[in-house]
Amino acid sequence: MAHIVCLIPGDGIGPEVTTAARQVIEASGINVEWVPLPAGETGLEFCGSALPERTIAAIAGHGVALKGPITTPIARGHVSVNVQLRQRLSLFAAFRPVRNLPKVKSRYDNVNLIIVRENTEGLYSGLENEVIPGVIQSLKIATADASTRISEFAFDYATKMKRKKVTVFHKANIMKKSDGLFLNCARKVYSGRSQDIGYEEMIIDNGCMQLVRDPSQFDVLLLENFYGDIISDLAAGMVGGPGMVPGANFGQSCAVFEPVHGSAPDIARTNVANPLACIMSGVMMLRYLGEHQTADQICNAYEFVLREGNPENLTRDMGGTAGTEQFTEAVIRAMT
Ligand code: ATP
Repeated sequence: MAHIVCLIPGDGIGPEVTTAARQVIEASGINVEWVPLPAGETGLEFCGSALPERTIAAIAGHGVALKGPITTPIARGHVSVNVQLRQRLSLFAAFRPVRNLPKVKSRYDNVNLIIVRENTEGLYSGLENEVIPGVIQSLKIATADASTRISEFAFDYATKMKRKKVTVFHKANIMKKSDGLFLNCARKVYSGRSQDIGYEEMIIDNGCMQLVRDPSQFDVLLLENFYGDIISDLAAGMVGGPGMVPGANFGQSCAVFEPVHGSAPDIARTNVANPLACIMSGVMMLRYLGEHQTADQICNAYEFVLREGNPENLTRDMGGTAGTEQFTEAVIRAMT
């Protein structure tokens, strides 16, 4: 039976990297029926909305999507489609494994982090208003429900995958109420768990310093929305760049898989983008669908290409000369 998967190509490099992921998944021989859906620029062009209702309904109905990045206009325009999608579908947990990849050059060789980011509230609630001309307030929302839910997700994952420690980054010395609530919820969840898993709290500025000093001291990072966004990019920079980190957004009954990077309009349509993060997101999706063998097959293939280290098969950000398409073809060749 075919898996029905919603496919949102997205903006900028989105169509290129999602095409690559789709081609790799199809080359495995697995039976997937793709449901292409508009969002972002295509949503505006064809449906008059950056996030058409039919896109939301289709993902909610089919329960799984592979998504490319969508551009968010800066300091103007529509609210972030990515944020809206996560809120509308209650995709409360962003999950981002950040690891060194074989032979991919980076300043660190000891990164193995799981970033768990609360995905629905905090400063991303979109509640901003002009109090008087020249004075803006931006509301940071924290609820016990969402903070507890994401803490449970992080500890459940740590327990299931036998990880060693959960670290919460926070700024509860300044945001005593909102970050204080997040912290208290994490503490409460931890106190009800088996103490086999370590727990620590770190003020986020110190956390950033510690992270770049020695990432190996961290394991699972639990963060509220805004900090999770920033730390995800920081961590991506530690393993070679944005093209290397996959992501998943989990809700109770649906999941959307997408690379951590943005739409990179500076390199869109130039066959330069590294599609690996999107391919890896596709691999995570296959595991979610229970297709572990196919996931292993693709994972082994891209790791083979990386290990082989032939510059003609690696994209520019990995020190090679290949384009998006050539890298994708190399991965497909390695699968057969
Ligand atoms: P957005 O507004 O959608 O967040 P952005 O360009 O501000 O887009 P990113 O897309 O994350 O943010 O890009 C940051 C930098 O990393 C850019 O210089 C971009 O070219 C580069 N980059 C991002 N993704 C990739 C990729 N998959 N392969 C190669 N370079 C990438």
